[in-house]
Amino acid sequence: MKNNIIPPDSASLKAIRGMSLSFTADPFLNPQDKCYTLIEDALIVMSEGRILDIGNYAELAPRYPGLTNITRYDDALIIPGLIDCHAHYVQSPMIASCGDTLLEWLERYTFPTESKFRSKDFAAAAARQWFGAVLSQGTTTANVFATTFAESVDAFFEESERYNTRMICGKVLQDRNLPPSLRDASAEESVELAESLMKKWHGRGRQLYAVIPRFAPTSTPRQLELAGRLYGAHVGEGVYLHTHLDEAEGEIEWVKELFPECRTYTDVYRRYGLLGKRSVMAHCCVVEEEEWRMLHDFGCGVAHCPSSNLFLGDGEFRYWEAKQADRPLNVGMATDVGGGTNFSVLRQLGEAYKVAMLQGRNLDAVRSLFLATRGGAETLRLADRIGSLEPGMEADIAVIDLAPDEFTAWRMQFCEDIFQRLFVLTTLGSDRMIRATYVAGERVFNRER
Ligand SMILES: [Zn+2]
Repeated sequence: MKNNIIPPDSASLKAIRGMSLSFTADPFLNPQDKCYTLIEDALIVMSEGRILDIGNYAELAPRYPGLTNITRYDDALIIPGLIDCHAHYVQSPMIASCGDTLLEWLERYTFPTESKFRSKDFAAAAARQWFGAVLSQGTTTANVFATTFAESVDAFFEESERYNTRMICGKVLQDRNLPPSLRDASAEESVELAESLMKKWHGRGRQLYAVIPRFAPTSTPRQLELAGRLYGAHVGEGVYLHTHLDEAEGEIEWVKELFPECRTYTDVYRRYGLLGKRSVMAHCCVVEEEEWRMLHDFGCGVAHCPSSNLFLGDGEFRYWEAKQADRPLNVGMATDVGGGTNFSVLRQLGEAYKVAMLQGRNLDAVRSLFLATRGGAETLRLADRIGSLEPGMEADIAVIDLAPDEFTAWRMQFCEDIFQRLFVLTTLGSDRMIRATYVAGERVFNRER
């Protein structure tokens, strides 16, 4: 039985009404029709930033006689706010830079751009653009890289506080193999700075902190060791470890040269204490069996970044390996902006389908939409707060427009169910897929038809 407590003054409540979809279990591991709740005409009642109640409109509405503030969405689907498990807001100024493989692309575009985030004004302007872009695409939580400088972290969290979004971010630790303009002066100082930023931001409002070594090649063993200690000391308080892993062949070869004593790339992170239940690994395209098992044993999550992997010509993520029944991992969807080519988690689903198809596998809309919502929340260990539409959950909500333009509206009439329609939508990839975005019960984005 759902929460039936009726507050004394239901006139102060607000609600949204329309078709709703929310996952209750992982469709990679369970029969699909047992994994979600679809309500054709749902009422979602919100109070003080949370979902107070959800159910069939005809049954629920009489329980809230004073409730008049109801926003109705027709030809729409109400889902939990989308979750982006890996992105670099600091790469927004260089998204869509042409032509290079990962390591050259970092040298040529990424490092010079990130060097500019020493300036608080530059960082604040980029944060404003990034938040505007992701909220217009229905994303309400993201796991985000800042860069070397404290200014880049402060600017991000300050903007997040303005919207009251639940975001994860942190200073990037990088003390070798990159230009002096971006390089940490020393392992000790860099991790001390990370710790002071963590104390400043972690748990302040809805903000959460991550310890972020960029990836193994740009940290000295000493920096990885100190990062592991910081993470280990604070993982119990909800602090994250966020990094890249097994993205591309050239990168993996480089890691093996730099850390010849380690059996695999994953083993490098294990050795320095960087694996754990709040460790989120971006990419995982070229993964050996013993690495999958190690990631599973430590409870790590994986961020799948399909448009980035296609854009940079990296490896191809194998969801069927990540979700293998005897050692499944939590997997979420990610834009990886600026390697990714847009800010939309829903558009990533269309790209994820193509990545799977390159290897002859089908990724249907039930499973991919799970990755974009509850799967992402599980990957970030936040499934008790976000990622589904249930009483008590934080009211972060996206409203998908099932008729974003004339052609799509026409095409939809030939679909038989909501998942076919979602597949059409994510494959066509309209930039106008989101009608409204709610953060903690407040509408922060609205698109009129
Ligand atoms: Zn990345």
